[in-house]
Amino acid sequence: MAYATTNPYTGEVVKTFPTATAEEIDAAIAKADATFQEWKKTTPEHRAAVLTKAAELIRADHRRYAEILTLEMGKLIGESEAEVELTAKIFEYYARYGAELLKPRYLQAEGFGDQDVALVNDPLGIIFTVEPWNFPYYQIVRTLAPLTTAGNVVVLKHASNVPQSAAAFEQLLLEAGAPEGLFQNLYASHEASAQILADPRVRGVALTGSEAAGATIASTAAQNLKKATLELGGADAFIVLEDAELEKAANWAVMGRHWNGGQVCVSSKRIIVEDSVYDRFLELYKEGVAKLVAGDPMDPATTLAPLSSQGAADDIVKLIEAAKGEGVAVEEIGAPVPSQGAFIRPTLLTDIPLDSKTASTEFFGPVSQVYRAKDEADAIHIANSSPFGLGGSVFSQDINRAQKVARQLDTGMVFINQPTGVKADIPFGGVKHSGFGHELIDLGLKEFVNEKVVVVTDIDGQF
Ligand code: NAP
Repeated sequence: MAYATTNPYTGEVVKTFPTATAEEIDAAIAKADATFQEWKKTTPEHRAAVLTKAAELIRADHRRYAEILTLEMGKLIGESEAEVELTAKIFEYYARYGAELLKPRYLQAEGFGDQDVALVNDPLGIIFTVEPWNFPYYQIVRTLAPLTTAGNVVVLKHASNVPQSAAAFEQLLLEAGAPEGLFQNLYASHEASAQILADPRVRGVALTGSEAAGATIASTAAQNLKKATLELGGADAFIVLEDAELEKAANWAVMGRHWNGGQVCVSSKRIIVEDSVYDRFLELYKEGVAKLVAGDPMDPATTLAPLSSQGAADDIVKLIEAAKGEGVAVEEIGAPVPSQGAFIRPTLLTDIPLDSKTASTEFFGPVSQVYRAKDEADAIHIANSSPFGLGGSVFSQDINRAQKVARQLDTGMVFINQPTGVKADIPFGGVKHSGFGHELIDLGLKEFVNEKVVVVTDIDGQF
């Protein structure tokens, strides 16, 4: 796809960008490699100073950074500001804890002294990152901060509809004092991934995106015997048990399903409610959804954003039509949405057969699947019937009970009495078709390091 900023609210093509040539990509990799040879020798404290400065700069100019997000992918301006703050916090997390987390680990091996067997964390080199448009800064920093803290350098292929967000982030790092080549944004085509991953200077790839992109990139990485981490789609269960505080749960469900225009990997896409409270919950949920106001995402009064592009909206319409074809009950909720802009009117899907295509599809927009569960066990069964395993939530006033349910969900994350959150200091990652590997905290930091064994041994006659 060609790189362009197209305002999803007005449909206007604001700016286009040329796709990188093979020669430009090669030059970027050479520059990254030269930078790596120096960066790997720097101390964690030196690296932390760059990240701290980046946090300071993005915070100081938060409105300008936020407006780029809203312009390019249509998220509400308040949500863009929150993303800028979250981005600053992730920089700060690694600036604060990186040195400590990278310290060697000493192993208690039989016959050796306390500090004779060390696991040290050496950087690998250039890591390729491929990121989606739904959180244009947060997605970059989630890999960039841990990778550079560990001593690696990064080349990024961002989504083709957020080229200005990617360029702004590259500029931010340079202004923060990063050497040229530490973080480079490439307007690379899909096909260029083969060139990048075949290059011996590139040591791995971290992708966030769809299952299709994940499968393609992971197989290219495998052909080149390189590691991949995949953060893919989700269809999070939002389980409401019969003892939940229903109004609170319904309010959270409205927010969990509709923030960011419903385009979050951990959106509450499948709402599963115990039979005895189903009717009341649904009534409250519909009332809440009906109050959403679609409009200009730059206007703070707007509460329902357009989708990221007209193409994304068209895809959702096709999925809704396919659901109707499978006998699913479809109901539009609230006022009609504006005809200008990539809007989808909030839509409720009920009576969804568990073996239908709809039940296993990720709807990336304001479409709610609502399921009636016979009891707690049935709710867990419905939740785990999805091919995805990213996040999930359980609503109950009995925390002990909710924790037990959480342990039975086959996902990477579960939040109790809240939709799955995105935080600077809580790790992120899924199982099944939601991918493999982790991002954030020490788990993300260790994904692309060589945990090298260094053994001191001068014990005579022993091997
Ligand atoms: P997508 O089409 O897979 O795009 C994601 C990125 O991959 C973009 O940079 C895209 O580039 C690139 N890409 C796609 N196909 C490629 C290929 N064959 N070779 C190389 N690069 C390729 O995903 P999307 O639909 O825009 O994004 C939404 C998806 O991401 C949803 O499924 C969502 O749940 C998931 N997501 C997951 C997480 C998580 O942490 N688990 C977080 C956010 C989003 P182009 O733009 O140029 O096509």
